[in-house]
Amino acid sequence: MNDEFRSLFPLTSDVVYLDSAATSLTPTSVLEEMNDYYNKYCANIDRGVHHLSKLASHRYGDTHKKIGELIGCSGKEVVLTKNTTEAINQVAFGLDWSKNDHVITTVMEHHSNFVPWLRLREKGVKVDVIGIKNGQIDLNELKNKITSETRLIAICHASNVLGTINPVIEIGKICRENDILYLVDGAQSTPHLPIDVQKIGCDFYSFSGHKMLGPTGIGALYCKQKHQEKLKPLMVGGGNVSNVTKTGYTLKKGYHRLEAGTPNIAGAIGLTKAIQILNEIGLKNIRKHEEKLNKTLIDELRNLDGLNILNPDIDRTGVISFTIKGKDPHKIALQLDQKNIIVRSGNHCSQPLVEHYNYDKVIRTSHYIYNTQKEIKTLCKELKKLI
Ligand code: PMP
Repeated sequence: MNDEFRSLFPLTSDVVYLDSAATSLTPTSVLEEMNDYYNKYCANIDRGVHHLSKLASHRYGDTHKKIGELIGCSGKEVVLTKNTTEAINQVAFGLDWSKNDHVITTVMEHHSNFVPWLRLREKGVKVDVIGIKNGQIDLNELKNKITSETRLIAICHASNVLGTINPVIEIGKICRENDILYLVDGAQSTPHLPIDVQKIGCDFYSFSGHKMLGPTGIGALYCKQKHQEKLKPLMVGGGNVSNVTKTGYTLKKGYHRLEAGTPNIAGAIGLTKAIQILNEIGLKNIRKHEEKLNKTLIDELRNLDGLNILNPDIDRTGVISFTIKGKDPHKIALQLDQKNIIVRSGNHCSQPLVEHYNYDKVIRTSHYIYNTQKEIKTLCKELKKLI
């Protein structure tokens, strides 16, 4: 990426930012777009007849449309949420479960695509967690776990710890053949790969704006139109009811029924701008850039004594986790921080996965479109010194 593009991210001149899997940097143009809303047409949406509200409503509606174009569905099938966690909880809470319904998820999941399913055990739902082999979902185990009671399969498109890109299209076919609902957690794929929910064949797909150049507090749930009326909203109140009397209420139709209360209007507008930037660069180019950085990083890390990369050879996004023999991951992250290199350490909200590797913490470096080869080399040079 050239210097002009990097100047959109002022923090890149202060630090080597390698924690984009947690949250990406926000370009100044996204912030300007949000400021414009507050300075020039600040109003609530779908409530007033005045021109400010009309403009704000139009821009908010446009976010649904732009997300639809990004992931290959109609804007009407996009529910705006706070984040991925809310989107997944909306599905887990919103479906009408019966005792003995069966859900399959994997050990590779972020807690946000794990705990909402575990909680369903309170309703008598059976939950199976399938394992991984060499950093990849064990498809045979997945197929073997399917029973006539399997109602939903929930998996991540890409792992937030390993970077693994899962065979979501293949799993989609298995779901359709067995008439199983399919939720894909796209938090780590939407920022990095071209997405087409029709090709994936999923019923639900979730992601967060803050991992894809957007602001925090805005995310989305793709919910196939035929399921929208079946989901019970997480919340009710202003915004998602069409008629209220002293004795009852009628929910609105479409995505409106799942969006109660004043939404994050500025966040939605900021996310539209972030999507425009991603489209201008092109997700295929983003992927190519990350692959080049992956190659440099893995080649260099392999040469460091005592450094163990978790599954170096998988097809991955720009996420790489590792440990260093005899060194505490938090200490390494702090020592790198002192050199203004930002990486994350811990279990990355994926405790079952990290424990699968017999660790309680690992170090994770995750790069994105604004990172350079020079920065990757700086990281490796500092790691070498620490070792
Ligand atoms: N799923 C995955 C794969 C993630 O990486 C994350 C964020 N680390 C989440 C879900 C949760 O995202 P959020 O905190 O934005 O809800």
